[in-house]
Amino acid sequence: MLTESDLNWLVNVRHHLHQHPELSCDEATTSAYIAERLAELGIPAVTGIGGYGVVATLQGHGNGPAVGLRADMDALAITERTGLPYRSQNPDVMHACGHDGHMTILLGAAMILKRSTFAGQVHLIFQPAEEKVGGARLMLADGLFQRFPMRQIFGLHNWPGLPAGQIVLHDGPVMAGTSEFILRFTAAGGHASMPHLTGDPLLAGGHFMTGIQQAVARSVDPLESAVVTVGTFHGGSAQNIIPQGADLTGTLRAFRTETLLHLQDRVRRIAHAAAEMAGCGMDLSFDAFLCRPVVNTPAERDIMRNAAQGAGLRLGDPMAPSMGGDDFGEFLHVLPGAYAFLGNGERADENGLHQPKYDFNDAIIAPGAMLLAHSALVALGQS
Ligand SMILES: [Zn+2]
Ligand SMILES: [Zn+2]
Repeated sequence: MLTESDLNWLVNVRHHLHQHPELSCDEATTSAYIAERLAELGIPAVTGIGGYGVVATLQGHGNGPAVGLRADMDALAITERTGLPYRSQNPDVMHACGHDGHMTILLGAAMILKRSTFAGQVHLIFQPAEEKVGGARLMLADGLFQRFPMRQIFGLHNWPGLPAGQIVLHDGPVMAGTSEFILRFTAAGGHASMPHLTGDPLLAGGHFMTGIQQAVARSVDPLESAVVTVGTFHGGSAQNIIPQGADLTGTLRAFRTETLLHLQDRVRRIAHAAAEMAGCGMDLSFDAFLCRPVVNTPAERDIMRNAAQGAGLRLGDPMAPSMGGDDFGEFLHVLPGAYAFLGNGERADENGLHQPKYDFNDAIIAPGAMLLAHSALVALGQS
């Protein structure tokens, strides 16, 4: 249980983090601040894991197994428009996804666990660069699970639109896997009146735009869900010039890694065909950061469910998975685990995730902390 003074401390921490947001891979002061707060709680921390990642370990009695609890740390390139007294002090950077709240929740879970008796260990994982680059993968490459062996991992994300403090646990897929691409069509370019002398990158882009709409409709099993979206399409500088290039970027989403790889193949083929039809060359690359889907394993989902019930938290009805992504999927690719949605309260037009009027709801720090702490306790109790 968290006392009133614990909660005051945690709310102050949350507001401090909210005032000092940092972009992916730039979380230097956030990392130092978290390590200081952990020290204040008497929990030793290791910093610099996969960039600015921090891992702190709570030692129970005996040599039981270990479990991991994870929070993400980074903010977004958004100009905050909440008008809050603790609004961002860093120009054009904002905690608009609530990762300030997730870090605070993990510190709250640490407080609860510190006062609990358990066998084994709990590793608190503060992960950088969730929004971009793939901090989970960076931490894994830096030996996260070798340096801190663990058997299971648990995490959560606040969810605007769900009643505050309500917990939703998905059976299977929670969030989509994502893959992003950068595509450039090239040609010699030339006079708009002499199209026979050059390929046309804009036309190739047009072919690609329409062709790609068929990738899901005609090549993915209709019982599966997937999305292909072109987010940018730039090319040309004047009405009478065929340009030398056209640039497109986009994203692929699916709930199975195999489907994501299949869509990458379709994008490649359609880009080739589009370039061919318009007499162009092309250069296609996929972000090295293919983020796997977040898929709960049944036993760990049950652990979280039992933990929520045991701690007297409110469980909501099952809901559809989200096409959004979270690189927690990288951890779940290696270890069994589960990831919960935690209601952030009512959602209006401009206060959803990644919006300039979003704010994490301090009232859900306590239920979030209880959920994570009790998930670890239930997991370790089942050893
Ligand atoms: Zn986000
Ligand atoms: Zn997020």
